Amino acid sequence: MPGYSTPAIVLRKTDFGDYDLIITLFTLKEGKITAIAKSAKKSTKRFGGILELFSALDVVYGTGLRKGLPVLQEAILKHPFPSIRSSMLKTAYASYWAELINDWMENGQVEARLYQLFHHVLKELDAGRVPEAALSILFQMRFITIAGLAPNLTQCSVCRVEVEKIKGARVEFNLEKGGIICGGCASGTLAKNFLSKGTLKQLLWLEKGDLTTAVRVKFVSGALREGLEFLEAFVPYHLGKSPRSLKFLRQIRNESFP
Ligand SMILES: [Zn+2]
Repeated sequence: MPGYSTPAIVLRKTDFGDYDLIITLFTLKEGKITAIAKSAKKSTKRFGGILELFSALDVVYGTGLRKGLPVLQEAILKHPFPSIRSSMLKTAYASYWAELINDWMENGQVEARLYQLFHHVLKELDAGRVPEAALSILFQMRFITIAGLAPNLTQCSVCRVEVEKIKGARVEFNLEKGGIICGGCASGTLAKNFLSKGTLKQLLWLEKGDLTTAVRVKFVSGALREGLEFLEAFVPYHLGKSPRSLKFLRQIRNESFP
C-alpha cells in the first residue's frame, strides 16, 4: 500500500457510520485530501481523540488497493490550538477560513503558500495577541491573491486613473468590476460601497512582506470594520460561493460586540 506522510490541518470532519470518521485535510505536501479514519469514533485509543477541527497534525495515509477514500493510518498532534475551540468567536473565524479553503481547493491541488498562511493565522488566533478581525483581513487579502482574484485597489477598474487622483477621502468600490472605481466611471443606480483611502492603504500593506510583520499592522477601528465588510463581500462574490459559516460568524460577532 503506497503511503504518504505530511503535515496537515483538519478542515472538516463528519461521522461515517458508528465507528469511523471522514476527515478532510489540508496537507502541506499533497494538497486537499479526504480520508477515512477507521474506528476513530468508536475508540479514542485509535487516534487519541486528536482529530479535531483546525488541529495541526503530522499524518500518514495510504490509498489502498481498491478504489475509494484514502485510509488514515497514523496521526500525531503538533498544535491543538486549544483557545480556538474554547471561544465561539475564534471558532467562527477559523470555520470561515476553513470553508473558503475547502470551497476553493480541488482535491490534490498543492498550495504550500496557502498552507503556511492558514497555519500562521490559526497560530495567531490561538495566541490572542492580534484582534481576530485583523487576522481575518490578513487571511482574506492573501488568500484571494493566491487564488488569483486579488481586488484592484490602486487604480480605477474602468479608466485606470490612479487612486491618488480620485477626489475625496472615500473611494467607491465596485464588486462586479473587481476593484475601486472613480467618480466619472461610477453609475448612479446601484447600492454603493465605499472604502476610505486610509483603509485602502492598510489593505495594500497586508498583501506584501512576511507574515510576522504583516500581523503587526495596527488598524484604526474604522479601517477594521470597513476592511472586514469589504472582504466578506468581495471574497465570496469572486469565489462564486456563499459560505454558510459566514452567516454564523456575523451572528456571533454581533452578539460579542453589539
Ligand atoms: Zn474611472
